[in-house]
Amino acid sequence: MPSRELFDNNGYKEHYTKTFGYTITSLITSRGCPFKCDFCSQPVFGNTFRARSAKNIVDEMQSIIAFGYDRIWFADDCLTLNRDRILEICREITERGTEIEWECLSRVDTVDREVVENMSRLDA
Ligand code: SF4
Repeated sequence: MPSRELFDNNGYKEHYTKTFGYTITSLITSRGCPFKCDFCSQPVFGNTFRARSAKNIVDEMQSIIAFGYDRIWFADDCLTLNRDRILEICREITERGTEIEWECLSRVDTVDREVVENMSRLDA
C-alpha cells in the first residue's frame, strides 16, 4: 500500500484541477501481461501476470477517497486480463459502496458485455 501521506497530494491535485477540472491519482492492481503487441511497452512490467486481491485493491481505493481525489487511474498493463478477477473487483467495489470514478487500460478481447456492464455499473 503506497504511503500517500508522505506525498504532496495538494500540489498534485491542484495541477490536475487546473489542467483537467478534476483530481486523479494512480493505483496499480497488477503487473505484467502475456500478450506481445508490437507497439507496447509491456516489457516494463514483464510478461508474468501477478495481481493483488480485490479486498486489498478496494482498501486502497477507499484510502484514495479519504485523500479527497475525484478519480482513480488504474495503471495496470491491462486491468481486465483475468475475467473472474475484474468481476470480483467490481463486486467488492459495489458491496462496499465505493463511490469514485475510475479509468483503466484494457484489451478488447478480454472484455464482454457482462464485464463492461459491471465496470460501468450499468447493470451491476
Ligand atoms: S494487451 Fe496491452 S499491455 Fe498487453 S501487450 Fe498488448 S498493448 Fe501491451
